[in-house]
Amino acid sequence: METTEKAPAKLNLFLDTPYNHSDGLQEWNMVMTSVDLADYVKIETKPGKRAISVHTDTGFLPNDSRNLAFQAAKLLQQEFHVQAGAKIRITKNIPVAAGMGGGSSDAAAVLRGLNNLWNLGIAPVKLAELGLQIDSDVPYCVYSQTAHVYGKGEQIQLLRKLPGMYFVIAKPKLSVSTPKILRQIDHAQLKHLEIQGMLEAVKQGDFNAICQNLGNVLEPLTGQMHPQILQLKERMLKYGAEAAQMSGTGPTVFGICRKESRAQHLVNSLKGFCPEVYLVRPLN
Ligand code: ATP
Repeated sequence: METTEKAPAKLNLFLDTPYNHSDGLQEWNMVMTSVDLADYVKIETKPGKRAISVHTDTGFLPNDSRNLAFQAAKLLQQEFHVQAGAKIRITKNIPVAAGMGGGSSDAAAVLRGLNNLWNLGIAPVKLAELGLQIDSDVPYCVYSQTAHVYGKGEQIQLLRKLPGMYFVIAKPKLSVSTPKILRQIDHAQLKHLEIQGMLEAVKQGDFNAICQNLGNVLEPLTGQMHPQILQLKERMLKYGAEAAQMSGTGPTVFGICRKESRAQHLVNSLKGFCPEVYLVRPLN
């Protein structure tokens, strides 16, 4: 038996981390959305064969237990005493270590896919709870729908779909280590943000209010270490984005445009300046 799951990239429309839990994990307060830039995760399973294997088409990502997709399969197999294995092949389209949750989305795709192939009947809320053992973005990626995400990442409040808009996503030629950024956070020093405006904007489907209420407390932190990120954001605004922001811990920056023609113009203006540029829409 086999299935292919789409693993979409996520963007943080809003991101704050109010404090650290005693176990060292962050408390999050985020609005996340998913876009039509996706990895494809093909999963085959055969009864009686308990081996798990992962292969990606990148040549540089690990194929062993360091791969989040591998960890997801192992977790389900152990938790539910499954007497079958899985052969996982990942076609990567989402840039790696970009702040777009590619690894987490692959892991969530494996959780969804194996839940079906192994007939486990696990409810999404339980899958999300399990996913937290892998990474804080996995619970959101189980749903991959616009949502308010809080707690350690496991509290997911689905929101209405976004109004019509285009995202121009640009990844500068540098990789940012999420754990490294998280270690640098001093919660007392962060300029914390109010999420209410963004929640209301999404609930109302108000394009302008969404643009006005973007926020990411980590943007100044990563931006200080890599000024190209802030330059890229400035360039996006200069060349027509109605709003722009770094996603997650960076370095990806996204710009928002209401009209496709304007987004296309922005893409053309960024090419040459930035090696990886994508024009995508929110997944609805
Ligand atoms: P986040 O925003 O959730 O921190 P990210 O987009 O910054 O994620 P990923 O692309 O998920 O980062 O990769 C982060 C690290 O995870 C990489 O260093 C990579 O080696 C590791 N990794 C493990 N499995 C995967 C996978 N299936 N796809 C991408 N990276 C993976």
